[in-house]
Amino acid sequence: EIGIIAEGLGFKAYLVGGVVRDILLGKEVWDVDFVVEGDAIKVAELLAQKHKVEFHPFPEFGTAHVKVKGLKLELATTRRETYPHPGAYPLVEYASLREDLLRRDFTINAMAVSVNSQDFGTLIDYFGGLRDLKDRLIRVLHPLSFVEDPVRILRALRFAGRLGFKLSKSTERLLRSAVSLGAISSAPKGRIMNEVRLALREERFLEILELYRKYQILAEIFKGITWSPKLEKKLLRLRDIITWHKIEFPKEVMDYGWVYLLVLLEEMKEEEGMAFLRDISAPSWVRETYKIMKRGSKSTEKSLLEAKRNSEVYLSLKNKPLYFLLMLMTKENLKEKVKLYLEKLRFVKVNVEKFRGLSGRELGEAIEKEKMKIMDEALE
Ligand code: ATP
Repeated sequence: EIGIIAEGLGFKAYLVGGVVRDILLGKEVWDVDFVVEGDAIKVAELLAQKHKVEFHPFPEFGTAHVKVKGLKLELATTRRETYPHPGAYPLVEYASLREDLLRRDFTINAMAVSVNSQDFGTLIDYFGGLRDLKDRLIRVLHPLSFVEDPVRILRALRFAGRLGFKLSKSTERLLRSAVSLGAISSAPKGRIMNEVRLALREERFLEILELYRKYQILAEIFKGITWSPKLEKKLLRLRDIITWHKIEFPKEVMDYGWVYLLVLLEEMKEEEGMAFLRDISAPSWVRETYKIMKRGSKSTEKSLLEAKRNSEVYLSLKNKPLYFLLMLMTKENLKEKVKLYLEKLRFVKVNVEKFRGLSGRELGEAIEKEKMKIMDEALE
């Protein structure tokens, strides 16, 4: 349909980028990117009119967003990008489909599918993306790619980690050489942090972290952390805990990436950790949890370790953020107690009828007391 609208205006339209890769991998897609050789905003506007939905144009980028049938469509005018200096934000000019694909990061992300009527569904693959997808390889399109945009170093490792792909031999060499030339520190920090945020959202974040380590960018990104077998074990335990939590409490599923980050920042000095959280624009509750962790963790750990009765476990953990509790579970000697709290103690219910006549704080206290009585009696 986009193809037909585009043709009506004398343009050609293509599906491009990550969506083509994901379709070829048999994944579901919700964010769908198109490019138009012509005025993408006009095509988006006509599409939105036809479906009676809103459209959001961004004239300075030549792009527009339209939501249709649960799909988020982005239409962009094909463009070429040139980098005034390495790592800088690129200069943008309109160009052909081929040039638009040539500015992209990896062969598997640089394929297009025609949606025009004369060749609908044809794969356009100038750089061997399909072959690399089959061979499970991440490959850049030209030798200066990583120098031009160092964020691609992190993107390469994110895709490799997510998909279980390897870097092609030459790409690996180019990546190592860009890293050793200091590419990461020359790139704008905001863009790097943005990419780290995306990595934190990945299911296979630990694999990505392992790749950061392998290619020696871990220390550059997380300044102040020292990798140790102990930290690695803790992260692996966290992965098991997250898997457990997802299955046990599907309604509580959350951005687990932040918990990984909290564990990574645990050993850092508080100011350094806070500075990192600011740089990565962590939400305020992540920063709060980090503070609790740095300031209150030791006393919570101590009281939890000493707790014998269920009510004591309950008192140590009540009102603590869930993120903090998952982080605590990475400590072998506390794990079972936190688990007991998450599975049972926090759900103990009392019959409020019993306390008719009480209100406000008095009622609250009576309820808490009764809860603790129940958990000590029933579970002891
Ligand atoms: P994801 O599944 O993580 O959303 P994606 O491939 O859709 O992956 P986006 O960040 O949405 O990733 O980017 C869309 C497309 O834009 C990519 O597929 C790639 O072709 C191109 N692209 C994104 N970032 C860069 C970059 N730094 N350098 C070159 N091309 C890029």
